[in-house]
Amino acid sequence: MIKLKADYVLLMDNKNTILKNAEVIFDKKIIDVGYDLEKCEQEIYLGENSILMPALINSHTHLEFSSNKTLLEYGDFILWLNSVIEHRENLFINCKGDCFKKAVDEMKKSGVCAFGEISSTGDDLRYLKHSPLKVVYFNEIIGTTPAAVDMLYQDFQARLNESMELQNEKFKIGISIHSPYSVHPFLMDKVLNIARSENLPVQTHFMESKAERRWLDEGEGEFKLFFEKHFKNAKPLIKPIEFIEKFRGLKATFIHCVHANEEEFEKIKEINASIAHCPVSNRLLNVGLLDLEKVKNYSIDYSVATDGLSSNYSLNLFKEIRAALLMHVSLHPKYLAKDLLKAVTKNAAKSLGLNNGEIKKGKDADLITFKLPNSVENLELLPLQIILHTNEVEKLYINGKEV
Ligand SMILES: [Zn+2]
Repeated sequence: MIKLKADYVLLMDNKNTILKNAEVIFDKKIIDVGYDLEKCEQEIYLGENSILMPALINSHTHLEFSSNKTLLEYGDFILWLNSVIEHRENLFINCKGDCFKKAVDEMKKSGVCAFGEISSTGDDLRYLKHSPLKVVYFNEIIGTTPAAVDMLYQDFQARLNESMELQNEKFKIGISIHSPYSVHPFLMDKVLNIARSENLPVQTHFMESKAERRWLDEGEGEFKLFFEKHFKNAKPLIKPIEFIEKFRGLKATFIHCVHANEEEFEKIKEINASIAHCPVSNRLLNVGLLDLEKVKNYSIDYSVATDGLSSNYSLNLFKEIRAALLMHVSLHPKYLAKDLLKAVTKNAAKSLGLNNGEIKKGKDADLITFKLPNSVENLELLPLQIILHTNEVEKLYINGKEV
């Protein structure tokens, strides 16, 4: 058992409780939180202006693209997508053991205890099965060509089975449908049935760009040219609302939703799904900004994630929420900061199906500690000051062990 004492303890509960000069006792799980708790063999005071809070969770990444630095085209979604297709194989070849390690290390330094990894090839498995952080490993399905459906499904099943065998308390499995424009509905149904029977979390990119909106609504626009260039079939295969409906009854997360309409937000809420917001990626591909006010009005839970290094310069989650704080200029920074901390703890845990993201009896002891440069008088502003002044953490505990 360990007892940590900090000047500020953020529980990340529904009331956004912050305790001053409080203590947390834990082994693998949180045992107690409060004041003057029982004596423990190991007791640590974290120092002046210290913060103790749940470790962060990056709900959506693509580590297989981590070798990208300056190669890909930014500023336009379709140009970017073409550049990804052009360089995909090389980026994968150039990301081996050390490349994955660097990516995981960057997240770890920024206080991330767990991440949702989208894997399209299974090549990342060799490294990630030994990851020091918790992984929810989403096997991705992508492909629209009817003639290739059987082959794609067999490849998917082989990857899924291989990853399923590695499941343990730090390595969980999920399923990813790439997007409504890139997966044949027949494949979608088959893999979502597996998610349903195995009770696996699912993720999908949704309404990331204006081009996607136009393609799915009208079968026109830049995506039409894109499909004609790369594939033979140039017809959208599903209506967006039917697509969302397919996720009913599953633990589903819709990534991006920048161009989702009212009806789609309503449907996402109705099927009790969540949204993952990747503001830096959206900015770099110049697709616009998710309407967080609308997301809040529909009472949809959202997490904030970095996406992959194919559309970001960093996997540091504190940098990501700081970017979000500065981009959403219509929202009050004091309240937005609270929501953003919740987005990368409690909400992200719920999205991935993890038992952490909150300091509460029985939750996994996944915790971070760090210090602010000075004290904070108005506790209402503590989340904002944390986001402004934190890049890296001092200690990261996963299942009660410092890593
Ligand atoms: Zn993504």
